[in-house]
Amino acid sequence: MKVLEVKALSFTYEDGTPALKEIDLTIEEGEKVAVIGPNGAGKSTLLHLVAGFRTPFRGSVRVMEEGLDEHTADQVRRHIGLLFQDPDDQIFMPTVEEDVAFGPVNLGLDRIEDRVARALRSTSIEDLAKRKPHRLSHGMKKRVAIAGVLAMEPSLLLLDEPTAGLDPHSRSSLIELLRNMNKTMLIATHDLEAAAEIVDRVVLLNGGVAFDGGLAELMAQDAVLEKAGLEPPQISKLFKRLRGMGYEANILPVTLDQGVAEAVRFADREKGRSRDRKT
Ligand code: ADP
Repeated sequence: MKVLEVKALSFTYEDGTPALKEIDLTIEEGEKVAVIGPNGAGKSTLLHLVAGFRTPFRGSVRVMEEGLDEHTADQVRRHIGLLFQDPDDQIFMPTVEEDVAFGPVNLGLDRIEDRVARALRSTSIEDLAKRKPHRLSHGMKKRVAIAGVLAMEPSLLLLDEPTAGLDPHSRSSLIELLRNMNKTMLIATHDLEAAAEIVDRVVLLNGGVAFDGGLAELMAQDAVLEKAGLEPPQISKLFKRLRGMGYEANILPVTLDQGVAEAVRFADREKGRSRDRKT
């Protein structure tokens, strides 16, 4: 099932700034997609449009097969959970559990306690239920905001720069959380290393959709990367250099795990060679 279907979407701000041009994007149920691109490419605008915050626009947006326009925005928004970049923009109740309950209560949903318990469990913050969210660390606030979104059981999760501003430990644990989460998601991010760990597919915005496919495939397209000013993950850079030295990898690794697998393959091949030399 198509959770999101965007066709020929263009948008210009009231002051005349063009932000999106002829964007096509379809996301199937269960897919995790990152939207990447240089500053000003329109990543946040795309998320906000899909979330129903800005109408009218040119082109069409369908979420769970419902067309989005100024008349349907309230209804269509019910399918969507948007995680803001700054959790302080999203958290405002006195305790974590009240904050997580706020969305579903506001939407008039049922089984509130159940929803809250499940959302706290799936973000591993059950023990924070009675805490004051504003006193928590930035990483924990992000989890509270994610729990609040999950409690509404949206069909599509939109995340705006989820790893921004996190310390290395909170960043890796958030990546782990999103990687293991069984949800359809669209993530706007600068952080290609994080995208590599979480998503199966990347959409590069750079004056329209400049690329749509696997990150490894994109990392091999030097001209596209350079035009968009994108830096490959460190592990991809390492293997590009090795390629220049004659070590050809089966795939260009974009994650540490893939890099380790390729390095082991190189090492095994070298071992085989030295054994052959001895015999
Ligand atoms: P990104 O998230 O990729 O950095 P944005 O969606 O924030 O890109 O911005 C796309 C373009 O729209 C940029 O040129 C930006 O300056 C402009 N823009 C963003 N928000 C507004 C706004 N509220 N009013 C006018 N122009 C805006």
